[in-house]
Amino acid sequence: MAQRVDLANLSALVSTVEEFDRLTADTLPDLLDHAAGQTRRYLRETGQWADDIGHEKLALRWGYELVERFLVCGRSEVPCRPLFLLDSLIAKFFSQPNPLCYHKDLCSPLGRFLDGLTSRAVLSRDALTALYYHLYGFGQGGVVQLLGLGPAESQRVYKNFERWRRTGWQRAVTEIGMTEAELRELEIIQNRDPQRLNQEADRLIPMVQEHYRRSEPEHFPCLSRRQWEDLFHHGYGYDYQVWHLALCRDCMAEAYAIRLDGLTETRGVQIDLHLRPLLKGRVASFLWVQRGGGNGTERPAQRISTASR
Ligand SMILES: [Zn+2]
Repeated sequence: MAQRVDLANLSALVSTVEEFDRLTADTLPDLLDHAAGQTRRYLRETGQWADDIGHEKLALRWGYELVERFLVCGRSEVPCRPLFLLDSLIAKFFSQPNPLCYHKDLCSPLGRFLDGLTSRAVLSRDALTALYYHLYGFGQGGVVQLLGLGPAESQRVYKNFERWRRTGWQRAVTEIGMTEAELRELEIIQNRDPQRLNQEADRLIPMVQEHYRRSEPEHFPCLSRRQWEDLFHHGYGYDYQVWHLALCRDCMAEAYAIRLDGLTETRGVQIDLHLRPLLKGRVASFLWVQRGGGNGTERPAQRISTASR
């Protein structure tokens, strides 16, 4: 009932910018609902819909995107009827050729890889955790240190890496529709000129991350340096950290700088793209170096976290 009243208000003529701001702020949930609903309808009508959480998330993501555009451009359209303006913006958006391929660079094999991986990360904690490795090269020990995790949460990270290595990565790559030949081709470029691929990834990642951050509104806003320090210092906001940092390079750089003293994996937050999952042997060798190895005895990977705490 309440929603009907709000939508009725949104159909009425708004004559000042202040009025527009007030009304849209008051009815934001309804606007988002509406935009997500229209997106769902569009996807259904074009045969791109399936009743699953992935498509629901996609509809929400596009809903946010559309409402954001509406909020930016709407103010300059006053006087207007906000709901009609939103609808016309949505219609215009979906009448573009191939609107879901939101940037043509993201249709390249590298673009699809980054986009697909991040899209998977929105749904899967394993994929989310794996982003730290695929984008920056952080192993499980590095992730634990960076996020300052306690024993229980560290165990989760190890499980995330393990499942990703066993099945998650393959599943994501299959979902992306990436062939082994395409992966090999990227690897050839990477071997020949690692910087080139990293630079290209560097350019695409902000675009992809910004897009997918919208799907988790409560984890969306960037925090200031001070707020990150607070979060780390008081040891709360675990979900926020894991989610936001994996999907925001700027905040990742802040977090890294704050955490630097406690890190043994001081690899920086330059993009260091990894196409395949972290192999088990790599964990052992990393550990071996960390411990100044030499006696040839491998220790369980879990020890990294306890050693660093
Ligand atoms: Zn951020």
